[in-house]
Amino acid sequence: ATPTAVMVATGKGASLGVLIKGGNALEKAQKVKTIVFDKTGTLTIGKPAVVSSVLFSEVSMKDFCDLTIAAEANSEHPIAKAVVKHAKRLTQQYGSENDHFTEVKDFEVHPGSGVSGKIGEREVLVGNKRLMSLFNVPLGHEVDRYVSENEKLARTCVLVAIEGRAAGAFAVTDPVKPEAALVISYLHSMNISSIMITGDNWATATAIAREVGIQKVFAETDPLGKADKIKELQLQGTIVAMVGDGVNDSPALVAADVGMAIGAGTDVAIEAADVVLMKSNLEDVVTAIDLSRKTMSRIR
Ligand code: ADP
Ligand code: MG
Repeated sequence: ATPTAVMVATGKGASLGVLIKGGNALEKAQKVKTIVFDKTGTLTIGKPAVVSSVLFSEVSMKDFCDLTIAAEANSEHPIAKAVVKHAKRLTQQYGSENDHFTEVKDFEVHPGSGVSGKIGEREVLVGNKRLMSLFNVPLGHEVDRYVSENEKLARTCVLVAIEGRAAGAFAVTDPVKPEAALVISYLHSMNISSIMITGDNWATATAIAREVGIQKVFAETDPLGKADKIKELQLQGTIVAMVGDGVNDSPALVAADVGMAIGAGTDVAIEAADVVLMKSNLEDVVTAIDLSRKTMSRIR
């Protein structure tokens, strides 16, 4: 494209809330045949909320809540924020004095799994099944049933282990964006196929994918694994766009032919991307491709 055409198109994009960083991205967007979507915060609203919680052992309600809050307080993850908010409300109900939660020693973030730390004398884990198996926490029937029932409903389960024993769990929902299904079907009509990629578990991922009409899913994928999947698709000869919002999406955004960041996402993702969807609306994935198609056809 001529510099003038690029300037006009990027200017138009900017006025629509679609920031295109340069001519290269603009030229490539029209050739995209496959779009890979992150789940949390991209296809879903990204503001998870706890919808249920249970206790699995004879731990007190107060301990369960206080230890969970202490462990998750230092985590930036949106799921952690939802869990802390819910647990704080529970402690209020159960008359615990909310303010002095104990400090956490040996706090560790396990990306794509959860957090661990020592609170007072007790080892506390908060995260998914993968985290539990990493620390060899046995999970009984009761836990399995709670997890699978909730995952079928597209909910993500957060398990809490205290001193190596499953103590309780939270089920978290994060609704899909209202425009998601429409955009996926519209892309399909443009001959562009959609894939979901996520660090979350297979059952939840599959349920969300079904809601938005995506047939191909990669779940339980860590950040570098996401980038590897993009490269695999490229090796199969397709031009790939990646849409994501998180720190965990940035390697994939860089690897993709066209990386698109959700405007409400993290700075790291926005920097890694070629295109920024300022309104965080998935319809603008189509806007970006349309803009590219129109600009490039005018030039030829
Ligand atoms: P996504 O790829 O969908 O954006 P992530 O890779 O951020 O998801 O996280 C994958 C999974 O790891 C989450 O669905 C959750 O089960 C678990 N997880 C990660 N961080 C935390 C945390 N701080 N507390 C609880 N669970 C967590
Ligand atoms: Mg995300």
